[in-house]
Amino acid sequence: MYLSLSFLIFSVVLIIIMWLFQTVFLDSFYRLVKTGQVESCAASVCDSISSDNLTSVIRDIEKQNSMSVSVYNTSYDFFAAVYTPDYMFGMSSVLNMSSIFSYYNDAKENGGSINIESGTENNLKDSFWSPNSKRSSQFMDIPALEHAAARMLTYATITQIDDQEYFVVVEADLTPVTSTVETLKFQLVIMTIFILIVSIIIAVVTAHCLSKPICETNDKAHQLAKQNYDITFSNGVYRELCELNDTLTYSAHELQKADSLRRELIANISHDLRTPLTMITGYAEVMRDLPGETTPENLQIIIDETNRLSMLVNDLLDISKLESGTAVLEKTTFSITGSIRDILTRYTKLIEQDGYNIIFECDCDAYIFADPLRITQVLYNLINNAINYIGEDKTVIIRQTVKSDRVRINIIDHGSGIAPDQLEYIWDRYYKVDKEHRLAKVGTGLGLSIVKNILTQHDAVFGVDSALGRGSDFWFELSTVEP
Ligand code: ADP
Repeated sequence: MYLSLSFLIFSVVLIIIMWLFQTVFLDSFYRLVKTGQVESCAASVCDSISSDNLTSVIRDIEKQNSMSVSVYNTSYDFFAAVYTPDYMFGMSSVLNMSSIFSYYNDAKENGGSINIESGTENNLKDSFWSPNSKRSSQFMDIPALEHAAARMLTYATITQIDDQEYFVVVEADLTPVTSTVETLKFQLVIMTIFILIVSIIIAVVTAHCLSKPICETNDKAHQLAKQNYDITFSNGVYRELCELNDTLTYSAHELQKADSLRRELIANISHDLRTPLTMITGYAEVMRDLPGETTPENLQIIIDETNRLSMLVNDLLDISKLESGTAVLEKTTFSITGSIRDILTRYTKLIEQDGYNIIFECDCDAYIFADPLRITQVLYNLINNAINYIGEDKTVIIRQTVKSDRVRINIIDHGSGIAPDQLEYIWDRYYKVDKEHRLAKVGTGLGLSIVKNILTQHDAVFGVDSALGRGSDFWFELSTVEP
């Protein structure tokens, strides 16, 4: 609506400007241009006075510019006509000698030249006139020209050439402007009507094609704000609107995804919190009510469940810190090889008790500039996963390879592996491949998401090669530094 209105206002302003320039200012512009023309023509005439081709120069000027030029030698007691017009160029006015003489006096007083605009009836009868109001005895008869209220622009200038004084008068007709203005006015009335009709049509079409789809998009955006994520923004009529609608449809889709993830996250967290809590409460109640049940095994279950709870809470805190960007890295230079060795000592009991085989392959100590705590967290998560999803051979291989200035760590197991269609999702927060049997395996579903965040913060390259039934190979690469 505003667009159409603006367009109409723009058209009206355009029409007003056209009217002003074509009618009101046209006269002033025309006069300005003519003044410049007569002055430059007079200058050309002055330059050619002493030359032989004066007549042809003047005739050219008269023909090309519709002007009348008169040149007088005023060095003597009378005005000797050097050149006078022969009135064949459609001029409305031709000066008489009394006017010429009065212009001469005015030019003298004005410092040598003068510009006069007149609306007079003139005819030229005299060719000779005494400069000091003394009438000459000689007259040259020239047919009288009658003109009704012609508007003339006259430029008169006195010039000295070879000790002789000349008076050059150039006269231009201003009358054409009046008739032109009339013609233009008539044309403008037709143009105004035409422009107004076209503007109204364009405004209506614009309102229909531009404003209506924008209003529709706006209505749908309001629905989106009210959490109606199923909305689809239909394609617009023009490119910008199409792009806007596509972006909004994409946003709606992403919001829907984020919303369902949020719901899933809340459901998962509450489920994971409730399970150990139920266990803890259950075992504690049994031990309270049945004194014989206060056994180290039952207490161990309570401790294990409490550890699981604190692990979950810690993971949640970590992920929220990492994702919000509030986790600041405290980087130092340390040996990643040493960190791996330290972590492996934690698994000694596991190796001894359950017969796990954790192999660490490395040929040198690699140093990196990173946050040791965070990198340990990465290693711990990946090794833990490998053990959690270990294969029948009960073997996990941790391989360190140093190539030029990069160290690559591979954590390999020969377990169940991950299906190719799941691979891209395992890094997502709270994603578990085995959703139905979530408690069948330990873990919070946040481990790989934490790994991804930490490695991204360290500008590391990372990935996984995995195949169902053959196991997984999680790897990452970091730049090495001098120890
Ligand atoms: P979780 O705490 O459940 O292990 P993660 O974020 O660490 O959560 O892992 C996400 C999912 O990726 C796991 O649920 C599991 O299905 C899969 N996954 C991770 N590591 C392995 C592995 N070494 N072998 C097979 N599957 C794995």
